Amino acid sequence: MSDCLFCKIAEGTIPSRKVFEDEHVLAFHDIQPQAPVHLLVIPKKHIASMNEWGAEDAELLGRTLFAARQIAKEAGLEESGYRLVNNCGRDSGQIVFHFHWHILGGEKLANLNPSSN
Ligand code: AMP
Ligand code: ZN
Repeated sequence: MSDCLFCKIAEGTIPSRKVFEDEHVLAFHDIQPQAPVHLLVIPKKHIASMNEWGAEDAELLGRTLFAARQIAKEAGLEESGYRLVNNCGRDSGQIVFHFHWHILGGEKLANLNPSSN
């Protein structure tokens, strides 16, 4: 999509700090990190949000997950752990409408379950 920021990053017309790239998937550093390690993993194909994946995209969705695991490992997070987050739609605060996983780690993250804080 011509007016999509992450499509432009995938095409290389907007620069990014890449950490992984293959034919289908790209990963790069988030420009405003929310944790010591904050990476974004995207399909090169434009898919606006979690809601837009089709059944024909199941393999590509799997590729983004396998890539995320590999990237987390290469970032040194395999043992310490990490969080994989997707924001979908208005209430989540999604601001870039090209699907992406956030990989967050490198410190103890706030627990999502308040009772175990
Ligand atoms: P969200 O759509 O809320 O899941 O998050 C989009 C993320 O993209 C935010 O964490 C931004 O900091 C990040 N971001 C926005 N522009 C860029 C960019 N040019 N390069 C890398 N990350 C970006
Ligand atoms: Zn896009």
